[in-house]
Amino acid sequence: MSGSKCRVCREPAIIDLPRHNANFCAEHLLQLCRRQVEKAIKDYDMLSPDDRILVAVSGGKDSLAVWDILHELGYAADGLYIGLGIGEYSDVSYEFTRDFADERGLTLTTVDLRDEFGYDVPTAAKVTKRVPCSACGMSKRHIFDKAALDGGYDVVVTGHNLDDEAAVLFGNTLRWDIDYLSRQLPVLPARDGFPKKVKPLVRLTEREMAAWCIVRGIDYQVEECPMAVGNKHLSYKEALNSIERESPGSKAAFYLEFVDKMAPLLAERRSSERARLLACTSCGAPTTAPDSGDAPVCAFCRLQERTAGVEPVPVEMVLNKKAR
Ligand code: SF4
Ligand code: ZN
Ligand code: ZN
Repeated sequence: MSGSKCRVCREPAIIDLPRHNANFCAEHLLQLCRRQVEKAIKDYDMLSPDDRILVAVSGGKDSLAVWDILHELGYAADGLYIGLGIGEYSDVSYEFTRDFADERGLTLTTVDLRDEFGYDVPTAAKVTKRVPCSACGMSKRHIFDKAALDGGYDVVVTGHNLDDEAAVLFGNTLRWDIDYLSRQLPVLPARDGFPKKVKPLVRLTEREMAAWCIVRGIDYQVEECPMAVGNKHLSYKEALNSIERESPGSKAAFYLEFVDKMAPLLAERRSSERARLLACTSCGAPTTAPDSGDAPVCAFCRLQERTAGVEPVPVEMVLNKKAR
């Protein structure tokens, strides 16, 4: 960055952003990030000034940055952290989250999967014999939804950024997975049994969020989750990054134009899917009707049943098994 100047103030720049065809100093990088979040909130009608917000925090850069930005913008946002039991990775992630909240006097609630539901992510991965992210993602969604509804929150905020959303979109497009595509929106409105969910970072990249945290002095978990092995999103992100290097702005166009032009065409699919939901007979959460005609039990309750009484499995054991 030596010698380059901020587009706004002409002071020395700290970051180049090819998709904006410009360089920025620390102050104007923060301004750009704030404005992108404000634009996303306004364009997609994400939040109202008096909303009670629950932020899903993981200790990574994105969730801490979105909590920081919303707090700065004056929103009332509490955090919820879920202890996934992924060894040292989870311990360190929790410490970053707790320190962040303590330093700012923010309210943080913690739910520990093993203490409260009797399993953790490595054990769930072993029992289900599927990639860990599948049981993990499902458990997180269930717990965040329930916590938001029980706690009287208006909306759940997640830290998904442009890279995350473009990678998921890329995967869903490669398979033309219409059901997933129809739901891949920056805002999912509240409906029976589900809280409203929003992603205020959809206009910002991973690199911009890392820069936000560095400039703001936010310490975050920099390690990748060890259980992400086999998660295809990482290879989709690499593929999109190589396209972005050749053609800056492609990633934003791919995702944001999908939201504006394609997603409205899938609205009918979204509503037909909604009609098929029933209440779980065990916990009351919405779930799809079983083909068999049995009583509906949601995936979270089924996972709890399958893992009941199973001794904790160390992370290494699940990973070594995958490597063989
Ligand atoms: Fe869970 Fe997968 Fe994320 Fe790790 S990478 S926290 S297993 S969803
Ligand atoms: Zn500047
Ligand atoms: Zn249930």
